[in-house]
Amino acid sequence: MTVITPPLQELETNTSSENLLARASMSVMDTYKRVPIVFEFGEGCILRDTEGKQYLDFVAGIAVNTLGHAHPRLTEALSEQCAKLMHCSNLYWTEPQIALAERLTQASGLSRAFFCNSGAEAVEAALKLARKFRSADVGPDCTQIIAMTDSFHGRTYGALSVTGQSRYHVGFSPLLPDVTHAPFNDIDALRAKITSCTAAVILEPIQGEGGIRPADPNYLRAVRALCDETGVVLIFDEVQSGVGRTGRLFAFQQTGVRPDILVLAKGLGGGFPIGAILASERVDAFTPGDHASTFGGNPLACVAAQTVLDVIAEEDLLSNVITRGKQLREGLLMLQQRYPDAIHDVRGVGLMQGVELTSPVESIVTECRRRGLLLVAAGANVIRFVPPLIVRKEQIAEALSILESALVQLSSVYHQ
Ligand SMILES: *Cc1c(COP(=O)(O)O)cnc(C)c1O
Repeated sequence: MTVITPPLQELETNTSSENLLARASMSVMDTYKRVPIVFEFGEGCILRDTEGKQYLDFVAGIAVNTLGHAHPRLTEALSEQCAKLMHCSNLYWTEPQIALAERLTQASGLSRAFFCNSGAEAVEAALKLARKFRSADVGPDCTQIIAMTDSFHGRTYGALSVTGQSRYHVGFSPLLPDVTHAPFNDIDALRAKITSCTAAVILEPIQGEGGIRPADPNYLRAVRALCDETGVVLIFDEVQSGVGRTGRLFAFQQTGVRPDILVLAKGLGGGFPIGAILASERVDAFTPGDHASTFGGNPLACVAAQTVLDVIAEEDLLSNVITRGKQLREGLLMLQQRYPDAIHDVRGVGLMQGVELTSPVESIVTECRRRGLLLVAAGANVIRFVPPLIVRKEQIAEALSILESALVQLSSVYHQ
């Protein structure tokens, strides 16, 4: 008889970071450009690696850890729900899914929710819903989707096809047909692309991966008017900007322009995977059998999201985002004044800020990390600041001071 699994003692149990990193490339696919650090513990805005080194975390799992790490409320709520019921399938109902749908629809002014597990999966649901609605409403040829240049919507085929950055497309053709891209913030270009075959327009109210670029409020109002005129479904991808990051629960509330479909994920579960779409009554065209997700809206994920919403309200985190966002923005603008040769632009809303450098950001990100601050790029020249929404005054000050030291250090290296 052939033995197909190795005996247990042959599996590695050494977990030093050196050993883990040596093992990683043998067993994990090469899809990420990773920093050779292995993290083990987190608390609030602090992460600790297996060597005991601490970092101030201004990445927050890429705008995911809304409440920071190991928030006691989230830990407790998840443990309790785990012991009660983790999963039972959408063949049946659970109270957490219904309650979360009620809260999200009430908060957004939209009508009903569909739950899934990630941003890309939520974008897929939005695209399918838009095509279903428009083909039923107008006709089967009404399939065109207009997305924005420099946008990012995820890595599955539909989401990848609407993503407006060709570097993500290389090697994966053919993409979804009937997708076209218009320049962001250009209403005339969008108007010129809309036809009687258009199903949907999809955009990020603040482009995230594309370099932290907020939409002009007048542009959003004009897009809304154009979609109202033509019946085209307006989709806002708030996977990154949603759930409090801008100082409102959803970024669209800053401008008063409500989409027909709102796409959420990242920060919604505070670190637990969950994605969602919320749709207006007009476009809510799914019927049983149209769409599904095995794990979507499972009680554990829905309790995580409810707890995130609870803590945002109870700890008044939206006020914290506004105050700390202002502190961060003013500090970054000050640095721009001091180092105009290094910093080209500062832009963003609340705790979603970007600093566009005059050179590639990698050396600054690396130097900040060496000094104990975690940052992530958004495109080639932009450093992104998306700390947990619980970030404190002295932590913003510390991040600004580390960034300044890194700028000084690298400019002295360049100018030698
Ligand atoms: C991250 C992101 C996605 C993709 O989310 P995944 O959970 O990685 O699939 C989609 N849209 C936007 C705006 C994002 O920032």
